[in-house]
Amino acid sequence: MDQPLVTVRDLRLQFRTYAGIVHALNGIDLEIHEQDMLGLVGETGCGKSMTGVCILGLVPRGGEIVSGSIVFRGEELLGKPESYMQTIRGAKIAMIFQDPSSSLNPLFTIGQQLETVMRRHQRADKSQMRDRALELLKVVELPDPARILKTYPHELSGGMKQRASIAIALSCGADLLIADEPTTDLDVTVQAQILDLLRRLRETQGVAILMITHDLAVVAETCQRVAVLYAGQVVESGPVDEVLFEAKHPYTRALLEASPKRSSRGKTLQAIPGTVPSGLQPLEGCAFSPRCPHAMEICGQAPPRISVAPSHTVYCFLYADSEER
Ligand code: SF4
Repeated sequence: MDQPLVTVRDLRLQFRTYAGIVHALNGIDLEIHEQDMLGLVGETGCGKSMTGVCILGLVPRGGEIVSGSIVFRGEELLGKPESYMQTIRGAKIAMIFQDPSSSLNPLFTIGQQLETVMRRHQRADKSQMRDRALELLKVVELPDPARILKTYPHELSGGMKQRASIAIALSCGADLLIADEPTTDLDVTVQAQILDLLRRLRETQGVAILMITHDLAVVAETCQRVAVLYAGQVVESGPVDEVLFEAKHPYTRALLEASPKRSSRGKTLQAIPGTVPSGLQPLEGCAFSPRCPHAMEICGQAPPRISVAPSHTVYCFLYADSEER
């Protein structure tokens, strides 16, 4: 396979809090390929969004990446100065947020906001920028682009605002879009339209998408590959059909059993017993062991990375007899 667009290895992020050091990411391993649509899924607090902001070089205040590597197009991003990351952010890697109302500036028109981002990363005169802005609004399938250019965010519906945000994210030809719960705040019918749009953009614009979501149905409908996170670690990753329909890791299986979609197909909704680790203690052994029905003595050690099929990886002692890579 070609060199990945992004390779994340052993990424560890900590926060200093009044309660102590919180271990937010505990060795994330991830690969995103060109034109990939990779779902990053897990419960609230598992580190999905933190992984996205680390790739963008936007670690929140109080946070520190203590080890690991983030390689983008063969270049290590960790340790690069902020001035360099500003040339990557928006131009090469862009983000789409959950709430378009807070990501768009209410004081400026959509056209002005598109122009601001383009001017930061590209050389073009006013009329070229206007043409490009009109083209982008067509790409995201907003009706009457000339009118939309002059509108303020509050004049648009939630779905239209999210389309405008996607146009801004695409405006400098980014190779990777990080979409953080991009449909959670939208009506169900609009959610489906936005997911359809993202799927089409991957093909028509040649962009890779990291889809951060808590919703397995979103992953099943839109993604080609998925990585399941638990307590700041990837526990299983691979093609969506394999991971969601032939799940190996006990946590992935529990997550599927807790999914309302699965319940509606005639199965009872199963809550996952126990609670997610607080992150205040460094992980020792398998983080899922206190909740795992298959936990063994050996699970007190760090689980091995097992390849159960080509491109399908699980971190669990249950598969220790399978080929390990
Ligand atoms: Fe369960 Fe052990 Fe596998 Fe962890 S490593 S998921 S505790 S069987």
